[in-house]
Amino acid sequence: MINHAKIALVTGASKGIGAAIAHELAGDGFHLWLNYRSDHQAAESLAEEIRSKGGACTLLPFDVADPAAVSSALEPLLAEQTPFVLVNNAGFARDGILALMSPSDWTDVLSVHLNGFFNVTRLVVARMLKKRQGRIINIVSTSGESGVGGQVNYSAAKAGLIGATRSLAAEVGRRNILVNAVSPGFITTEMTADLPVDQLLPMIPLGRFGKPEEVSGLVGFLCSDRATYITGQVFAVNGGVHI
Ligand code: NAP
Repeated sequence: MINHAKIALVTGASKGIGAAIAHELAGDGFHLWLNYRSDHQAAESLAEEIRSKGGACTLLPFDVADPAAVSSALEPLLAEQTPFVLVNNAGFARDGILALMSPSDWTDVLSVHLNGFFNVTRLVVARMLKKRQGRIINIVSTSGESGVGGQVNYSAAKAGLIGATRSLAAEVGRRNILVNAVSPGFITTEMTADLPVDQLLPMIPLGRFGKPEEVSGLVGFLCSDRATYITGQVFAVNGGVHI
């Protein structure tokens, strides 16, 4: 359904899964508020692509982990308009065994996923509460559900985000704000470019990595008017990996 009145804020959308979500939601008629951190070229070419298909897109470069940057980018926009959709997708991994993990690899990973969620969501949900409508989708990970050696920081962050998803869903459901998590397995993006694919494929019943578009379709559904009674859930998109 095309609905030009609705805005979708997607964090970490210059590439990978976030870019696929941006395409999906633009195709569904949302005006995109497209956040990213540093890759201006990728973000600008994505915005051009969306506009060339008739979509609307506003670029918002800021670091989700920096509360002052988040406030100065979003508060002026939120004073005028309220997104119907927020997708918390920005993130990265810094893998390594815990015994050798530096304090910054621990705090940076928790910061981008958990503080990033907090910094952006607290501003947006305050507006959604006034409007009595909204959809929040948090992109988590199989790693936060099953645990993966070498990813204690990342698993802790994503497991924390799953807890936040369930608690926020309980907190805002009465105001018709639906909060869910989408949990990808191995998806082909820059983030997974250096992984040893051949060693990992035997763990995946479908025998391949997923594509970003195989994640974004579910996000589009959860943001649509066909998903009005789903909240507090975690949906795996992982090719059948056992959790
Ligand atoms: P990606 O291709 O590396 O893209 C990451 C995006 O996040 C980029 O747009 C990047 O922006 C942005 N970003 C990173 N740090 C940011 C920050 N501090 N503030 C704002 N934006 C920031 O990664 P991806 O694979 O698409 O991952 C997207 C999400 O899916 C992440 O939350 C990740 O944990 C999750 N996930 C991925 C997989 C997978 O297999 N790929 C599996 C499970 C979950 P710039 O490049 O412009 O700086």
